[in-house]
Amino acid sequence: MTEKILNYIKDMKPQMIETLAELISFDSHRRDPEDGAPFGIPAKKCLERALEICESFGFEVKNVDSYAGRARLGCDPELGILAHLDVVPAGSGWTKKPFEATVEGDRLYGRGAMDDKGPAVSVMYAMKAIKDLGIPLKSGVELILGTDEECGSSDIDYYMSKEKLPGKVFTPDADYPVINIEKGRICAKFSAKCRSDKLVEFHGGKTVNAVPALANAVVTGISAFEIKTAAEKSGCTVKFDIKEVGEKVIITAAGTPAHASLPDLGDNALTGLVRLLSALPLDEPAKAMISGIDGTFPYRETDGKSAGIAARDDESGSLTLALSILDFDGEKMSGAMDIRFPVCESVENISKKLEKKLSEIGFAADISGVEPHCVPSDSDFVRTLLAVYHDISGNPGEAIAIGGGTYVHGIPGGVAFGCETGEDNRIHAADEFIRTDALVENAVMFAEAIMRICG
Ligand SMILES: [Zn+2]
Repeated sequence: MTEKILNYIKDMKPQMIETLAELISFDSHRRDPEDGAPFGIPAKKCLERALEICESFGFEVKNVDSYAGRARLGCDPELGILAHLDVVPAGSGWTKKPFEATVEGDRLYGRGAMDDKGPAVSVMYAMKAIKDLGIPLKSGVELILGTDEECGSSDIDYYMSKEKLPGKVFTPDADYPVINIEKGRICAKFSAKCRSDKLVEFHGGKTVNAVPALANAVVTGISAFEIKTAAEKSGCTVKFDIKEVGEKVIITAAGTPAHASLPDLGDNALTGLVRLLSALPLDEPAKAMISGIDGTFPYRETDGKSAGIAARDDESGSLTLALSILDFDGEKMSGAMDIRFPVCESVENISKKLEKKLSEIGFAADISGVEPHCVPSDSDFVRTLLAVYHDISGNPGEAIAIGGGTYVHGIPGGVAFGCETGEDNRIHAADEFIRTDALVENAVMFAEAIMRICG
């Protein structure tokens, strides 16, 4: 990167702040569709304004029915950069105004500052610098701006049904250096009729993608003393609270929550409570079913080994499994689990094994999933981005695999490139911010990537 471009981008910092402040002023979280506004009026207006700014920079713009839009520099685009203008709702706890950018010290606060309006602005100005300085490109580059990333990315599905994406796409909506592998994901639900005179009810977990921090059960016909003794012997680190209420005993288990893609970071209250119940003299068939769950999805096991689905490869790491929901209401026992699996496996293969295992312990299964996403780490595209990251940031960079999904999960050839660096920008929380210098740093990074890929 020459001094000339570097200085040009640095000089645009006040303009970048101004543009970002303007985009933050739209509360563009997803709302009910209105005429011509598939995700609500503010998201549509935000997209229109961003495209207007891009047009004023001299890019060729296209609004694709207010689902998404694009700004193109040069012909035959080889590189697409995918960012989003929708945000999650403000939520509570803000000490600043969420939709009025506040610059304080080296930070700019506002909903979307980091996720993902700030990175989008950096792309706009990286492209502007290349254009204004007349830097020749052999192939074109386009910024694609979506408006529904936070609620399922239907914006990009729509865009792809109408427009062709370039062969290389990155999204600045995750972390540096480069995320090239996103594990596959399975949601497996299971259920069975079950009656019990001793187990009255059981509830653990509410969302499938979270390791539950709380679970509770009500039993009858077993003394609190017996349950307390079993709890001590259980070897669980979840905290059990055991209370006698009349004829019944209420057991509450408290563990540690975690995202289901990183189950090792949590302490699963649900499987802890199942472990305790499996040691109690319950009646059949509840006893067999609880023991079956304990044996197949044991407390503290997160690699799916006992369920017969453990898998790992060097590039994407190990399969993870989190049993995240279990309910029993006296008639029916049902639950759900979240599985993230490496590129060496498939939805079909895992489903078959898991279905068999669940049926062996008496449950019918309902399994669905998404295959892994992978762009080889030795591909030109990934290697170029890693080299850009290294040269601009001075830090070594390796491609990384994650259990979660990014904006490019459904896009062939897509990777994530930026913009988080380990600093807590309070994404999705109160007082989200971006460092104002990061706007410049990211623009420099993107300009270099565009020049190396398209120049
Ligand atoms: Zn995002």
